[in-house]
Amino acid sequence: MTTPVLAPAADAPGEAAAGTGPLADAQAQLAAAVRALGYETGLHALLARPRREMTVSIPLRRDDGSVEVLTGHRVQHNFSRGPAKGGLRFSPAVDLDEVRALAMWMTWKCALLDVPYGGAKGGITIDPRRYSREELERVTRRYTSEILPIIGPERDIPAPDIGTDEQTMAWMMDTYSVSVGYTVPGVVTGKPVSVGGSLGRSSATSRGVVHIALAALAHRGITPAGATAAVQGFGKVGAGAALFLAEAGVEVVAVSDQYGAVHRAGGLDVPALQQHVAATGSVVGFAGADPLPAERLLGLAVDLLVPAAVEGVLHAGNAAEVAASVVVEGANGPTTAAADEILAAHGVLVVPDILANAGGVIVSYFEWVQSDQAYWWSAAEVDARLEARMLAAWGKVLEVAAERGLSLREAATVTAVQRVADAHLTRGLYP
Ligand code: GLU
Repeated sequence: MTTPVLAPAADAPGEAAAGTGPLADAQAQLAAAVRALGYETGLHALLARPRREMTVSIPLRRDDGSVEVLTGHRVQHNFSRGPAKGGLRFSPAVDLDEVRALAMWMTWKCALLDVPYGGAKGGITIDPRRYSREELERVTRRYTSEILPIIGPERDIPAPDIGTDEQTMAWMMDTYSVSVGYTVPGVVTGKPVSVGGSLGRSSATSRGVVHIALAALAHRGITPAGATAAVQGFGKVGAGAALFLAEAGVEVVAVSDQYGAVHRAGGLDVPALQQHVAATGSVVGFAGADPLPAERLLGLAVDLLVPAAVEGVLHAGNAAEVAASVVVEGANGPTTAAADEILAAHGVLVVPDILANAGGVIVSYFEWVQSDQAYWWSAAEVDARLEARMLAAWGKVLEVAAERGLSLREAATVTAVQRVADAHLTRGLYP
């Protein structure tokens, strides 16, 4: 462990760092951590490459009787600290490289938050809005059946992500359970509470984002009362984050979704906006706010910006416009490597995804533990343990950043990569 590695080995997946997209960003972050840690090329290559990948065809009988064949993936990036863990995404943008990046980020996220898992991710290239509930059930069950040999409570535990929800997890759990012949709640997390889900899981990512956002604002000397925020994305993560920020006294002045954005100086009435979205499917047209061109949200002069949608939304072309003091990444990979440099040069504090949005997988871990023991915790217990873990990780990242003179993303990645590498080195290389 003495020779610093300045570039990934030519045959390592690290070569993807030369390109663009989530995998290039993930590889660039790993390469920077490996440099800081002084790891050798072989160890870098081992950390850069997924341990296992599976790509499957998913034949789907449509409701009209026609047959369509979809493609799905499951990428298991690392198992050194425990079973692989990570969400399942239904999106037209899913491809293997995106799933590889998301799987790697899950490894670092689990290590940073000290939950006993490696990282994985799944994805199906599908626009779920174009399919009926029955079709989505058939897609989910067939995908589960195809990847069944590599998942399980001790192997790899899927969870919801973009385009999937607790119903998707119930279908996965049922398909797996019927196949093995008994009920296995621990094969997935993010299930409905009625079939072994945890209280507090559905709000966990948003709650965690807000615990970290308030800590980051305090770090910058900003108190919640009177602070302003903009949230990009009003889905599972963004809507909850907006609500909990407002409950903490922060003025959420703008939010957006894929259809547009709305703005209100003085703060939006978030519960009323949630009702509008439940009724219409979008934030657009909300009577309690003014319309805003969606691309202007990222450049608003607010204290806090929460990108809570998809990868790569803060890039070289718009990062210089960010006027927020703090960016807290609710999404996975919203900031490209180029944008990261620009934001740092402009003095913007960026709290990385693997810390900021880890609340979901933390409560997934609690759900898995509860399933295993068939003993259920109260919502207050879940929320208190979530907050304690998030704030402990925040403290650790601040400490490493100060000690080593690193950005928060570098400090978080270095901490996580070191834990994974230590586990690997302690176990040893077989054979
Ligand atoms: N999909 C979520 C994430 O990206 C949750 C993963 C999980 O709970 O396993 O962190």
